[in-house]
Amino acid sequence: MNVLVLNCGSSSVKFQLLGMDTEKVLAKGIVERIGAGQARLKYQTAGGKLEKEPPDVNDHAEAIQVILDQLTDAEAGVLGSVREIDAVGHRVVHGGEQLTESMFIDDRVYKVLEECVPLAPLHNPANIKGIEAATKVLPGVPQVGVFDTAFHQTMPRTAFLYAVPAWLYEKYRLRRYGFHGTSHRFVSHRCAELFDRPAEELKIITCHLGNGASIAAVKGGKSVDTSMGFTPLEGLVMGSRCGDIDPAIPVFLMKNEGFSPGRVDNLLNRRSGIKGLSGDKYIDMRDVEEQYFKGDPLCREIMEIYAYRIRKYIGAYAAAMNGVDAVVFTAGVGENSPIVRTLVCEPLSYLGLMLDERLNTDTFKPGSGREGRISREDSTVSAWVIPTNEELVIARDTKDIVTASVVG
Ligand code: ADP
Repeated sequence: MNVLVLNCGSSSVKFQLLGMDTEKVLAKGIVERIGAGQARLKYQTAGGKLEKEPPDVNDHAEAIQVILDQLTDAEAGVLGSVREIDAVGHRVVHGGEQLTESMFIDDRVYKVLEECVPLAPLHNPANIKGIEAATKVLPGVPQVGVFDTAFHQTMPRTAFLYAVPAWLYEKYRLRRYGFHGTSHRFVSHRCAELFDRPAEELKIITCHLGNGASIAAVKGGKSVDTSMGFTPLEGLVMGSRCGDIDPAIPVFLMKNEGFSPGRVDNLLNRRSGIKGLSGDKYIDMRDVEEQYFKGDPLCREIMEIYAYRIRKYIGAYAAAMNGVDAVVFTAGVGENSPIVRTLVCEPLSYLGLMLDERLNTDTFKPGSGREGRISREDSTVSAWVIPTNEELVIARDTKDIVTASVVG
């Protein structure tokens, strides 16, 4: 079975085509600058890479058509015809409280996604456009939605309710949702497999440290808490997002700087985090690290702040679960930054977590792409690096759902 995985943003469509008999990626890429003139297609297969500037990519449907044309191209294509695409799996950011697992996109799901637009105004409209476009371009091909929020729907009320007036939850469903659920699910389950213990027995803390970053407490295979909240702004220090701050700060800015709501939103989402702390000098952790190793005091402080926030959450989640068996690092920074892992873990010896520095720095060096344990044999809490693979989860869920419907 071939599954096309789509991740639609407001002006881009990322795609991967997976052959699910072997779970091999047959082709992947992105169409960027949709509707802005001069769209660009980047495309990669085992045979090589190419870039093109296809004309007339005015909307998501045209972008998906460009992708299909490329996948079936006589020279660089990997399919004889689009009929070889058996199903489409969509990454969808917000599934609200109702979409608690991956499922076929039918009228009900579609309606819920529309209702979730106010909760994810930047993401859900693009995801909806992507679903509409794929349905139009690939009529009759099953479409499955995989929701970033779904894995966290097992959080108890104690963890997801904010201490604000109850009517805000009744009226707006204002609560903690959490994001990156597909990644937290994948790496926590994979950790249990590598540990060779049933997920039901384990208390795992998963650190997804990419451009956006979040951490989750996974008990018995289920998310019981996570750092992103009503929006993906809460929690850890990120590339350009502040994470946790005193909620009075936005009001302070409005009163003292005359900021509009939009300006506050921009400041906290796009001008804060590493970018804000560095005075707009850096946003990419690789640059901060480089300066850190040169002894730059500003970058030293940024790294400490970044790691300290993660460490505080690890302590909090160990408390939330009454213990922890494993800490997992994943995504760009988590997979590739030994120094971040050291700064996070070194002061966690009180928990019984002791890194094996040789494994952490040499075996799991940047770009290793490996998965495995980075803690010492005698460490009572183990630490792991596990590369995330959200596209694979989406393709697997899509295959399982389509297969079950045929069998059922
Ligand atoms: P997203 O999917 O959220 O855009 P990724 O998971 O790809 O992000 O992670 C991007 C981040 O990973 C960037 O901040 C980048 O600097 C960081 N990163 C990638 N490689 C390294 C590395 N070798 N050392 C430190 N950080 C790295």
